Amino acid sequence: MKDSYGRTIDYMRISITDRCNLRCCYCMPHGAQKEPAAQILTFEEIQAVAICGARLGIRHIKITGGEPLVRRGCCRLVKMIKEVPGIETVTLTTNGIRLEEELPGLLEAGIDGINISLDTRDRARYHQITGADGLETVESAIQAACRSGIPVKVNAVSIDFDRAGFAGRDSGTEHLVPDWVSVAELARILPVDVRFIEMMPIGYGRQYETINHETLFKEMQKRYPGMEPDGRRHGAGPAVYYQVPGFKGSLGLISAMHGKFCKDCSRIRLTASGFLKTCLCYPDGEDLRAVLRQDQAAKTRENGHWEWKYADCPDAPDLQKRLSEAMEKAVRSKPGAHCFEQPQAMTEQRNMIDIGG
Ligand code: SAM
Ligand code: SF4
Repeated sequence: MKDSYGRTIDYMRISITDRCNLRCCYCMPHGAQKEPAAQILTFEEIQAVAICGARLGIRHIKITGGEPLVRRGCCRLVKMIKEVPGIETVTLTTNGIRLEEELPGLLEAGIDGINISLDTRDRARYHQITGADGLETVESAIQAACRSGIPVKVNAVSIDFDRAGFAGRDSGTEHLVPDWVSVAELARILPVDVRFIEMMPIGYGRQYETINHETLFKEMQKRYPGMEPDGRRHGAGPAVYYQVPGFKGSLGLISAMHGKFCKDCSRIRLTASGFLKTCLCYPDGEDLRAVLRQDQAAKTRENGHWEWKYADCPDAPDLQKRLSEAMEKAVRSKPGAHCFEQPQAMTEQRNMIDIGG
């Protein structure tokens, strides 16, 4: 699928829930305004969108959220999407809290890679950021994922801690060694890609400053003088990778703010409630849930569960035709670039948890 700027769109992020078991300060510090469960797409509806996407050229799918592993049956969904002809990779982004127990099911389902979010390796600071005492659980999950042999990436948001105010949470760790070093060091001992992501001014993220990756890159060069560009392909995303002598893994930078990569953007996003978004910065897109549920009044089975007309045939031609029109329309109107550098021009008001990061 090409957009109106000639970019190939082959990557779809699918949020499967707006719930989460953490309360990250830049994402949903006070919990989320949750959609009623009936407004969240069912697995069959998500599969119908994946089938349509694959026919239009989507090749890579990332399952995200909220926290995808708090939705019951996540592994079943991974399997359902893996079965869609044309989809080449299905990967998952998780905070890692439930990962170790779900790992066998994910591997069984055929997951192609796992991204684990970890912004710091300091226990107190982890608590400040996420509101939970989960550092050891996440580190253990990273190790377990690595042992399984699956490609693992660790994502750290580049929060400028010197300027971050952790309102309402204990402080007292202001004078730590720069956090990025301890996270980067994971790539020395484990075969993981550790990627730093510039904080974007989305929702609560606006209250925090990002570390400028031009500065971080210089610091990385100072600390790791032998660091060299890593030309190998690491996945479908916009990260730029580096190899460090003696490291089992690589270091990566995702610089949405100071290294705008919109001209190569290949992605669209499906929110948990079925809205197809084309850019993080703007609210525009298409309401696929309305398309999916268009020609039926909500039916209720005797057991009280809502029943979807196409549950047994998500590739029904009439449904797929309507979905295809809506998805192509959205892609045609995908903006050329984000406008994070001019926050007043940003029209997206939702939080990351509602968008699906
Ligand atoms: N709960 C999962 C997790 O934390 O990995 C998946 C959803 S979370 C919204 C996806 C990613 O978005 C996380 O790595 C998170 O750190 C990142 N994120 C959230 N808000 C952000 C922001 N304002 N700027 C940059 N990244 C952000
Ligand atoms: Fe939850 Fe992920 Fe948001 Fe943190 S970043 S609150 S783990 S959805």
